[in-house]
Amino acid sequence: MTRLEFRDVGIDLGPARIVSGVSLRVEPGEVVGLVGPNGSGKSTLLRSAYRVLRPVTGVALIDGESVWALSAREAARRRAIVTQHTVLDAVFSVHEVVAMGRTPRKGLLDRETEHDHEVVGKALDAVHMKWAADRSFATLSGGEQQRVLIARALAQEAGLLILDEPTNHLDVRAQFEVLDLLRHLGLTTLTALHDLDHAVSYCDRVAVMAGGELVAAGVPAEVLTPALVHDVFGVRAVLDTHPITGRPRIAVASAGSWPAPDNAV
Ligand code: ADP
Ligand code: MG
Repeated sequence: MTRLEFRDVGIDLGPARIVSGVSLRVEPGEVVGLVGPNGSGKSTLLRSAYRVLRPVTGVALIDGESVWALSAREAARRRAIVTQHTVLDAVFSVHEVVAMGRTPRKGLLDRETEHDHEVVGKALDAVHMKWAADRSFATLSGGEQQRVLIARALAQEAGLLILDEPTNHLDVRAQFEVLDLLRHLGLTTLTALHDLDHAVSYCDRVAVMAGGELVAAGVPAEVLTPALVHDVFGVRAVLDTHPITGRPRIAVASAGSWPAPDNAV
């Protein structure tokens, strides 16, 4: 199975250093949550693993190889991406959207083979969306669309899945469906997450970014201490046990003043 490693990654956007000195490993089969306030550099860091942004220092490695040493096609065979705000034209059916995931494995003009068709069907099955294969993607609910986009990523047959806030804008049940699915897949997974409680209850490890740097990484219930959450997010936090699931959970509350304390670390 696939391993992802960021080694001392620094990224500039224009004149500004947006990400600095990030070293982080995602081990085979692990689900790692990337959390941090808005603008802390999560999406920018992920883009270096997508092979979209080239770091100015360090390197992002997939199975020990720099993503920039791979061609775009090779990179796309090793890692699949689910980004925010995927808008697709109403002309695309769900099947067609998932079939797009086959592109890195085919020639430009190759038609869909029986094998492709089978892989797409299995991917839709895995996210429980086979019933919608012929529907227009644009007519699905947000949660259904997100599951189809995960199916598209699965159709790529990559061992590494990278997601950027995949539960945004979903209702509470759809959020859990996406998170349960990610756990169930068993792929090496790095996902930016907005909700600290999702990070605590679904991730093997959590990585915390602030001001473009990685400030902590480890087992969520050990890393997301009240002090760290206060320092990084400017809110109060308590870790306890979820009364329904029995797993660790985090409760957060306002720091109690306006304006909130300066949360720059
Ligand atoms: P996050 O995903 O954690 O919210 P981002 O990685 O999107 O954070 O953004 C990190 C920082 O980079 C933000 O402060 C943002 O304003 C800045 N930024 C994003 N794009 C550019 C750009 N093209 N030029 C300069 N700064 C940018
Ligand atoms: Mg982001």
